[in-house]
Amino acid sequence: MKHILHRAAALGLALLLAASAAGCGGKQPTAESSAPAPEATPTPEPTPMPEPTTPPVPLVAWGPDQVVEHLFFHPVIAYPQWAFHDCPSSKSQKEGLDDWMVTVEEFNKILQSVYEKGYILVSMNDVWSEVQDENGQWRMQRNTLMIPEGKKPLIMSYDDTNYYEYMLEEGFTSKLVIGEDGNVWAECTDPYTGETFLTQDLDAITILDKFVAEHPDFSLNGVKACLSLTGYQGILGYRTQNDIDIAADDPRRPAFDANRESERRAVKPIIQRLKETGWYFGSHTWGHINLGSEKVDLEWVKRDTVRWEQEVGSLVGPTTILFYPHGARPDGDDWHKTGPKFQYLQSQGFRIFASVGINSFSYVKQDISAVICDRLHPDGTTLRGGPGGKALGWYSQFYDAREIIDLKVRPDLGVTW
Ligand SMILES: [Zn+2]
Repeated sequence: MKHILHRAAALGLALLLAASAAGCGGKQPTAESSAPAPEATPTPEPTPMPEPTTPPVPLVAWGPDQVVEHLFFHPVIAYPQWAFHDCPSSKSQKEGLDDWMVTVEEFNKILQSVYEKGYILVSMNDVWSEVQDENGQWRMQRNTLMIPEGKKPLIMSYDDTNYYEYMLEEGFTSKLVIGEDGNVWAECTDPYTGETFLTQDLDAITILDKFVAEHPDFSLNGVKACLSLTGYQGILGYRTQNDIDIAADDPRRPAFDANRESERRAVKPIIQRLKETGWYFGSHTWGHINLGSEKVDLEWVKRDTVRWEQEVGSLVGPTTILFYPHGARPDGDDWHKTGPKFQYLQSQGFRIFASVGINSFSYVKQDISAVICDRLHPDGTTLRGGPGGKALGWYSQFYDAREIIDLKVRPDLGVTW
């Protein structure tokens, strides 16, 4: 209900602005009096007021040896009391949410803090690019960024923005839609009342859209975050995935295909609007596969990669960015090595391989055109302090975890700081 009111209030404000704008332009001519008009004194031209703009901030170079920080998030929990306590999921499932997610309120506080600490969002596609060296070899390079003086560049990425079935039951928003205003909104169902409504206050995507609209200096050229997508339950809340268990001659096939086609049609305008508003896409593999696992052999990686391309890449377009599921690097977790899985993935167009770590480490590989990078992960594990409370320090340049974590709503699992 609260969110419906928010939206109504926003629409009301828009109408009010439209009405007052019309009022400005609608100066009515006053009735002429019949008395002879005195010599009209020319009304003095109003002195134009200088626009109250702040002087442009000079751009300065952020060189290849200066760290570009990288924070990643999972979908944020819209209904924490439901997610952590009231929903029917198992205890371990709830603890998983505690480990890997933040709540809407925590997310808002994190955004505010990183903004106040001077960070500005940049695109991964601008941080690195591929160039040919004097021997004709293609290699990745860290670029020099030009950013407003006093700012520090920050990459943000969001993993698993697929709106998985399980999340819909655990207090998350359920899909992205285009609102009547042409912008991206999130569809959400209140788990307590069953009421479905549109909101921009309960989803990390629309929250960041709003935040950048209110703080344009939080983004370089309007860039937002990279959305890291799997494919096995479709994307962005649309069930665009194929089901290869339904054979071509299966009587269920025509209905499945028709539904899938309509989901694919429905998601296209969302993708387009996201791209227009600074979002970009990366792969999180089709099946959220563990590339570090022995069981996931090269053939599996190939099948998965082809399927991501067919079912996700065909919608969002080509990408050079791969976010390792579980942060697991292929070929034995040695980033110096270039093993067969890595080589295959690189041959399929990936150039930026992102894992998870305790800092925003990155390394341009010398033997193949690729860059390795780690991302920090604001979530329950790090907000609670991590091993020996060390995460408090790792994240102190972004925020003070003690001021972010909502211990009142999270399960009673203690902290290490
Ligand atoms: Zn994931």
